[in-house]
Amino acid sequence: MDTSEYIALEDGYGAHNYHPLDVVIQRAEGVYVWDVEGRRFMDFLAAYSAVNQGHGHPRILQALIDQSKTLALTSRAFRNDQLGRLYEKLVELSGYERVLPMNTGAEAVETAIKAARKWAYTVKGIAEEKAEILVFDNNFHGRTTTIVGFSSDPQYRAGFGPFAPGFQILPYGDIDAVRTAIGPNTAAVMLEPIQGEGGIIIPPDGYLKQLRELTQENGSLLIMDEIQSGLGRTGRMFAFEHEEIRPDIVIVGKALSGGFYPVSAILADQEVMSVFTPGDHGSTYGGNPVAAAVACAALDVIVDERLVERSAELGDYLMERLGELESPHVKEIRGRGLWVAIELHPEAGGARRFCEQLQDEGLLCKETHTHVIRLAPPLVITREQIDWALERILRVLSTEAQAATASV
Ligand code: PLP
Repeated sequence: MDTSEYIALEDGYGAHNYHPLDVVIQRAEGVYVWDVEGRRFMDFLAAYSAVNQGHGHPRILQALIDQSKTLALTSRAFRNDQLGRLYEKLVELSGYERVLPMNTGAEAVETAIKAARKWAYTVKGIAEEKAEILVFDNNFHGRTTTIVGFSSDPQYRAGFGPFAPGFQILPYGDIDAVRTAIGPNTAAVMLEPIQGEGGIIIPPDGYLKQLRELTQENGSLLIMDEIQSGLGRTGRMFAFEHEEIRPDIVIVGKALSGGFYPVSAILADQEVMSVFTPGDHGSTYGGNPVAAAVACAALDVIVDERLVERSAELGDYLMERLGELESPHVKEIRGRGLWVAIELHPEAGGARRFCEQLQDEGLLCKETHTHVIRLAPPLVITREQIDWALERILRVLSTEAQAATASV
């Protein structure tokens, strides 16, 4: 079968809830993927940061194989010999006292919302049904009905209501808006420390620190969704570390399993986590032995291969080299670690056509929010591989510039 036949198969039988690039990937290793025609591409998306450790990392793969052969699923009706190991590792790595494991990112966000609400009623003393969570414009926390209910993207909501109450959407990066909105019924403030799907939006310096102070003064929780920004992507283990703060709940997913298996979790101290009692919350697959073994190996790889430090060093290099880019299409280049946005002017006609040209050059990127090209390679990438990618990025954006000038 060739590319068009695979696409016809997918499009003929599947729901059309995605608009992927027309490349059908068959196998992958490290920073590279190969399509069904045998063409090699460098992956500059890393499955939205789930593959920070690189595709098919042998250590994580081995953990998956070994554990799958031994014990795959018990459900949480019984204990298993892997879960405690994952808890211990996450606690040692993060400094939080407790872990609650789930599967997908959205489920972990739901878990954080439940934790914050129950904490608000049982610890803060908010009247039943009155707890409110402050969230932000341009957020992306997943696709469940509760979560899309507080999205500011009309498409995410349209046709899916009615939505759960108890959320207030504020402008991202505007501390005065939070100062005005926060009150006695505020259970939590929840945000991405850098908005990923929103276009790698970095809030003003000091914003996270100010949020920490405001939530502390108010006696409400600060919840950081580190599902995409965490585990090394921004050059720190967690992006909130750039402002040296400590949130009350941290949500992790994606790279927690290095791309092999959906594993997510929330991390918090006992004061918050103790609101959950048996029967309050759970998931059949959450914390299963394969998930735990895979996540342990995925975390070991991040630490042992110094992926956080690599992301910081190579991210600086990538940003510096992108400074060479001279293109009338480019409005702004911003980033932290190996997480960089090239934002184009609206007149450039959208980022997708540039992503398609980069695909022709052997580089896979994906546009986000129409005008942004997101660069997020696996953190195992080398400087030489970055140079290879840069050559193509600089060429595509400046060739385009020439074409645009020529056609004027
Ligand atoms: N939160 C953030 C910040 C994300 O970037 C994502 C996914 O992109 C999610 C939550 C949802 O994760 P999942 O797709 O695993 O449900």
